[in-house]
Amino acid sequence: MAESAAGKSSITNPPDYDVVIAGASLAGCASAILLGRAGLSVALVEKRPDPQAFKRTCSHFIQASAVPALERLGLLEPIIEAGGLRSRMRAWTPWGWIEAPPERAGQAVNLRRELLDPMLRETAAATPGVELMLGQGAQSLLRSGTRVRGLVVRDREGKETELQASLVVGADGRDSHVAELAGVAEKVLPHGRFAYGAYFDGPPPAPDQTSTIWMLDPNWAAAFPTDSGLTFYAAMPTKDRLPEFRRDPGAALKSFVAAVPEAPPIGVSRLVGDVMGKIEMPNRVRVPIAPGLALTGDAALAVDPLFGIGCGWALQSAEWLADSVTPALRGTEPLQGGLDRYRRRHRKELRGHAFIVNDYATGRPISWSERVLFSAAARDPKVAVAFDELGTRRIKPGRMMARTMPRAIAVNARHALRSRAGAGQQTSPAQRLRSPS
Ligand SMILES: Cc1cc2nc3c(=O)[nH]c(=O)nc-3n(C[C@H](O)[C@H](O)[C@H](O)COP(=O)(O)OP(=O)(O)OC[C@H]3O[C@@H](n4cnc5c(N)ncnc54)[C@H](O)[C@@H]3O)c2cc1C
Repeated sequence: MAESAAGKSSITNPPDYDVVIAGASLAGCASAILLGRAGLSVALVEKRPDPQAFKRTCSHFIQASAVPALERLGLLEPIIEAGGLRSRMRAWTPWGWIEAPPERAGQAVNLRRELLDPMLRETAAATPGVELMLGQGAQSLLRSGTRVRGLVVRDREGKETELQASLVVGADGRDSHVAELAGVAEKVLPHGRFAYGAYFDGPPPAPDQTSTIWMLDPNWAAAFPTDSGLTFYAAMPTKDRLPEFRRDPGAALKSFVAAVPEAPPIGVSRLVGDVMGKIEMPNRVRVPIAPGLALTGDAALAVDPLFGIGCGWALQSAEWLADSVTPALRGTEPLQGGLDRYRRRHRKELRGHAFIVNDYATGRPISWSERVLFSAAARDPKVAVAFDELGTRRIKPGRMMARTMPRAIAVNARHALRSRAGAGQQTSPAQRLRSPS
């Protein structure tokens, strides 16, 4: 006999499923597809009843780092067929534009979530071994001792069903109920900005489907071209700007984006749909495993959306999880071995990136080292490529710092010497401190 949080229940042997996954969005569907293809039986439960449901508050810029995961899932081609765009990134900074040469730039994927989420869910539901259960919310965990043995789900009428499984996966987003039920350790880190965004129909914001961000120090704006000729315009100012956005979100978004340097054509574009806003979004860092349980996607790590990385990491962490636990679920090793492997991989891939993202999320101004990097990247194509590789999450911060910082410092020193020679005059130490050049 084992006890569930909801009451007493008996755990039979063998379990009903190899895996039960809570949450049928990016991380949950990607995990289900890969585990199902590995020959495992998967219950994929989703609290929303509508198969077409999608995450509304998301600008869906899927970083180049996640493109191999999309290819492996067999989704890249269908995404492009559905109108999704391949898009490189350029960044405006106070030192000028940072733009890697097109042939060296990472190519993101951009498709609205209202098309992407149902596509993933359909693919998961069609995968042999995967049973999609809609309208079933994760309610409590089945346990024996400290080990999780299954999940109790509840439908809209209040009917509860026990789903016993060798592994329970929480893929239920940044406010993960599964993580809360499991009581995994969690760090909550402050977020100093808020986000508003909306789709607009109008002229493209930049040539060649290029996406643009403006690092306005400390504010931020973006223009992401997407399917159907639409552009997602976004603003992420610090919280002192909140009253004007609350008063009239549409007008505030338009005037904020129209005021950025070399502004995109938002003024002559037409708002399509609602203006979406998210005000509180603290960064959440959780231990992604417990006995019999794993967390993936935002449930494991939910960071500031400013850098457009959550969707990519949801797909990638699902892949790391499936690869780590498949041998154990096929019976070739104890489950804990696979879970430990997943935890190590998750940490190795994301810890450095998350540290930087969480630090900048406070709303602080651009730091000294960022000034050095950004100013050099605006001046030198090799530093711009490294900036692009880091921003598109194709390399880790440690590698970028070790390889690129010395070059960035040299680029800026040469620039300073040339400017001084050109100006024929000395700048004061105070002026030099204010400018990284
Ligand atoms: C303003 C904003 C802009 C963003 N822009 C970008 C961007 O440009 N690029 C990018 O990569 N990322 C972006 N993100 C982040 C991105 O939206 C998330 O990282 C991504 O959706 C995480 O996917 P997920 O599958 O882990 O979780 P989610 O997409 O949040 O899905 C969780 C799923 O679990 C279900 N669920 C919840 N509770 C339960 C339960 N109790 N039982 C069963 N099911 C449950 C939900 O209904 C949902 O389907 C943005 C986020 C915000 C807030």
